[in-house]
Amino acid sequence: MSDYIMKIIPADFTYFVTGEQAKRTLSFLRAMIKADDITFLSSETPVFVDCGSNLEMIVCPCCGEQLDFGWWGEAMNIAGKEEFKNLSITMPCCGEKSTLNDLDYEFPCGFACAEFDILNPSTDFDSQILSEVEELVGCPVRVIRAHV
Ligand SMILES: [Zn+2]
Repeated sequence: MSDYIMKIIPADFTYFVTGEQAKRTLSFLRAMIKADDITFLSSETPVFVDCGSNLEMIVCPCCGEQLDFGWWGEAMNIAGKEEFKNLSITMPCCGEKSTLNDLDYEFPCGFACAEFDILNPSTDFDSQILSEVEELVGCPVRVIRAHV
């Protein structure tokens, strides 16, 4: 059976979660959610937090055109050379400016310097848990649902 990981990341990809914030958020999540494991990861530069095999397509947030994975891979390579500090891109479809973080990933993905991973949760969160997490982390968050 494959694993399901619910990942919670700050919506702002440059946002840094302090050790104290991480500790408090972890104990809150562990108290509220039944799961095989709940862990925290952080990095000095943003990393791409993906939804695993759930990634079916990527769509331009400006014009709604479906994007080519080859183009996206190349854009990721270029941004990766600068450690994802600059995610700005020009869309190949409509010429609009956007960022790799703002593309419409189906299912959602995103960039972050911090991530809470909830392995095989047997309960889903409600919006109340989520707003409590945002309070503890000090920043709006995104939820990424990954199958690995
Ligand atoms: Zn477009």
